[in-house]
Amino acid sequence: MSACCSNESSCAADAATPAARTKANCPRCGQPGQHVALQTLKHQVKPAHLETVETRSFNFCRTATCDAVYFNDSDVVLTKGDVRQRIGLKETEDPVPICYCFGFTEAMAVEEIRATGRCTIPQRITAEVKAGNCTCEIRNPQGSCCLGNVTAAVKRALKKGMEEKSRDFTEKGSKIYAKA
Ligand SMILES: [Zn+2]
Repeated sequence: MSACCSNESSCAADAATPAARTKANCPRCGQPGQHVALQTLKHQVKPAHLETVETRSFNFCRTATCDAVYFNDSDVVLTKGDVRQRIGLKETEDPVPICYCFGFTEAMAVEEIRATGRCTIPQRITAEVKAGNCTCEIRNPQGSCCLGNVTAAVKRALKKGMEEKSRDFTEKGSKIYAKA
């Protein structure tokens, strides 16, 4: 008899829970989560939570503004404070990691775009992946390849860089205008 079934009333309560909310939705923000392998969880959570993640399967919450990182179908939630590293998707201040295997941050992308007008980070990651150096399944809190997130971050950084450039241009323009 499992620990759960030694307590009949809790089993009955579980069975009677209406399916109003999909079990794979985050209890904090209500958005659908993404299943994460136990191996990933063991690398990501702080030692105090190692036993917790062994009990049930956990999902990752992708919502940027939600404090929950992992949750399970019993509404057990592990938040940003319960994991070992900063979750890029949920941070807006430096450093915002975008690639956990090779240490690229959003600021590095912005910096490169500022200096050269383009960003080679996705190509550098692709080369590392081809060389067999990628370990996203344990280093990325989502347990999956980071390239999708990296591409999105680079797009954001390019937009930021362009906005800065046009702002510079406008400022310079207005200075010239002021002189005249
Ligand atoms: Zn959430």
